[in-house]
Amino acid sequence: MKASEIQALLDEPACTHNTKEKSGCAKPKPGATAGGCSFDGAQIALLPIADVAPIVHGPIACAGSSWDNRGTRSSGVTLYRTGMTTDLSETDVVMGRGEKRLFHAIKQAIDSYSPAAVFVYNTCVTALVGDDVGAVCRDATERWGTPVVPVDAAGFYGTKNLGNRLAGEAMF
Ligand code: SF4
Repeated sequence: MKASEIQALLDEPACTHNTKEKSGCAKPKPGATAGGCSFDGAQIALLPIADVAPIVHGPIACAGSSWDNRGTRSSGVTLYRTGMTTDLSETDVVMGRGEKRLFHAIKQAIDSYSPAAVFVYNTCVTALVGDDVGAVCRDATERWGTPVVPVDAAGFYGTKNLGNRLAGEAMF
């Protein structure tokens, strides 16, 4: 996501004194990201959509640090409680295998659960190495006919609050 797009999401025109991120929402510091990064905020906003398969594209720690933070009151489908991640290792990153692993992960999610849709969350590592998550999601949608929605909310973009907005943008 471009910096200008993030800035546009942070602009609150109805608030005369705030043209950037709220000062009360400090950026998470390294080592203190659990429950606080943009990715986490995006996932919290979208988990109430209970029949979607949520795939966290990145190291397994991202899925772990956000696990079970929030949920939904769904009395039916509980797919949102199934943690899915591409579980990237250092070797995957060095060898450039991220996009391939993501494509296979989407296939596995669709084959195993026949979800109404798949949400793919971008994380710090995959955003930094430049995986084209949008293109993989487009190809997967064409290949399997299930909507695959990229949620570009890498943790370093900003706070959990920003992640809520990025999730809304992805849905829009
Ligand atoms: S997206 Fe980034 S900040 Fe958030 S849990 Fe993963 S590595 Fe940490």
